[in-house]
Amino acid sequence: MAKDPNALPTRKGERAWSEKDVESVRSALAADLTELTEEMAAAEAQAAAIAAGMGDTSDDQAEAGSYMVEREYQLGIIENAKEQLMQVQEAMARFDRGEYGICDNCNQPIGKARLLAYPRATQCVECKKAEEAQG
Ligand SMILES: [Zn+2]
Repeated sequence: MAKDPNALPTRKGERAWSEKDVESVRSALAADLTELTEEMAAAEAQAAAIAAGMGDTSDDQAEAGSYMVEREYQLGIIENAKEQLMQVQEAMARFDRGEYGICDNCNQPIGKARLLAYPRATQCVECKKAEEAQG
């Protein structure tokens, strides 16, 4: 922890990062990491239980069908959690590399306000909007 927290980038007009700001972003990321890991483990356990249950329903198509739907749902949760986990891990890695807070796309500061609201952001608002507009 030798790094100067005030070295994190800010946008024009924003105040420099305080140690407390940095701490708040870091602890939010750590909390997200724990939460998403647990969410994923729970969904994986559910999906496994459903898969195990499916074996017993081979003679009941309706029941097998509802198992399928439920399993799809759990797999969706897993996929989603996995993607978010990667974002969180990427954000944490950026901290370690000293690249945190720099937009992936335009290399400009993402901005303190945005990062405090959304600590795992890897793009500035403008680039994010442009990306979303592209679909
Ligand atoms: Zn950008």
